[in-house]
Amino acid sequence: MALTRIGLAGLAVMGQNLALNIAEKGFTISVYNRTTSKVDETVERAKREGNLPVHGFHDPASFVNSIQKPRVIIMLVKAGAPVDQTIATLSSYMEKGDCIIDGGNEWYENTERREKAMAELGLLYLGMGVSGGEEGARNGPSLMPGGSYEAYKHIEDILLKVAAQVPDSGPCVTYIGKGGSGNFVKMVHNGIEYGDMQLIAEAYDVLKSVGNLSNHELQQVFSEWNKGELLSFLIEITADIFGIKDDKGDGYLVDKVLDKTGMKGTGKWTVQQAAELSVAAPTIASSLDSRFLSGLKEERVRASKVFQSGGFGDSLGGQPVDKAKLMEDVRQALYASKICSYAQGMNLIRAKSIEKGWDLKLGELARIWKGGCIIRAIFLDRIKKAYDRNPELPNLLVDPEFAKEIMDRQAAWRRVICLAINHGISTPGMSASLAYFDTYRRESVPANLVQAQRDYFGAHTYERMAKPSHPPETQPPET
Ligand code: NAP
Repeated sequence: MALTRIGLAGLAVMGQNLALNIAEKGFTISVYNRTTSKVDETVERAKREGNLPVHGFHDPASFVNSIQKPRVIIMLVKAGAPVDQTIATLSSYMEKGDCIIDGGNEWYENTERREKAMAELGLLYLGMGVSGGEEGARNGPSLMPGGSYEAYKHIEDILLKVAAQVPDSGPCVTYIGKGGSGNFVKMVHNGIEYGDMQLIAEAYDVLKSVGNLSNHELQQVFSEWNKGELLSFLIEITADIFGIKDDKGDGYLVDKVLDKTGMKGTGKWTVQQAAELSVAAPTIASSLDSRFLSGLKEERVRASKVFQSGGFGDSLGGQPVDKAKLMEDVRQALYASKICSYAQGMNLIRAKSIEKGWDLKLGELARIWKGGCIIRAIFLDRIKKAYDRNPELPNLLVDPEFAKEIMDRQAAWRRVICLAINHGISTPGMSASLAYFDTYRRESVPANLVQAQRDYFGAHTYERMAKPSHPPETQPPET
């Protein structure tokens, strides 16, 4: 057998699909998995899907030796210890100049540690974020490779073809930067994804619980929204979800899904990093808190009995809701909240980039998220343009276009949140976004009092406001 162009180890959902995608683009590929039945399964699938050039191996030595030099191997195994174990298995057969690429959702510092360890063996290392789930991996993901630039150059031709292709924007891949930057960017991407999903869920809750919209109406609303500025993968699948009937009984599936959200950790890392870097990311944090609270199903059921009357008083006022107006207001509130959420995510990436000297290009990140990944959206094009206009933009909110969009949507945004509060419906993501905006846009905030308190009990001192300069003395008119 002729040597293959590339190897892939780890043939669960992501690895198997990415291997087939690579083969379909015309690159011969060797595949390996610890449990060998998955190797055979992948090779079988490659045959079924058009005799794709996928070669399976049951032992690591023959897998590594089947790849042309310098060898490039992508790993898609569970993050953490399995990555170290896979590296140990494979690297013993690899030679100086060969490359290992971890495509998993790995903690960025692990990638930096491994890059150093591999460099001592003469091996090159990349940590590459892969977004888009199973479908993206098979048909075109968004790829975020960071680490050794030399390793990136060895695989660039493959990545450019395998990544999602967006007309006028090109392939959804770029060399992100040094060290663990690819993993870090993927982590924040996932944090932004948490925020997007939370905001959409709140829009659903207000429309359903306050506006009494049926699933059929919700499907129509979200389909309509997907034709405008909110056009995105998540809005599209949300519209679809409202149309799925329960195949095990009457009604719709969405109403039968238990209201408990799972998570794998990248959202939590994002919030931890935001705190570490002193970057305010309240919308993303609120989405994480909402997942924590959703997990307390039994407690919530008990609490709902204690607080049955809700204590709303007359706030509901018995006024019928104008559905058309509510739908339009919620659309605007969702869009304005989304701007704030992305502003937070982008600022987090920039703060890390400065700390680590990664020199990340925020506009380029928006470009590679336009296709393939879960947060793909027409909106990202606007973000790219905002950073093209001003790469040093301190906050997306002050880009002139976004500033105008926020101003135009302010009234609707406030109406939706007030309405939700009066109905006892929590909108933590929208409220956190609005609070972020209302704090950021004000010249004076009550931090003077907090600082005065700190000084009072802890002698932490304070700065005085600069004295206003005296206006120039007016000269008597010349006579
Ligand atoms: P996964 O469930 O995270 O991991 C399963 C794979 O890891 C299998 O190939 C398994 O081999 C291997 N593995 C586990 N422990 C191992 C060990 N100690 N030594 C060697 N191999 C070991 O798979 P996945 O969902 O395809 O995800 C792969 C990576 O991509 C993860 O980092 C994940 O976070 C990331 N990711 C996933 C998605 C997604 O939608 N699933 C999206 C983006 C990124 P065996 O078959 O032998 O158990």
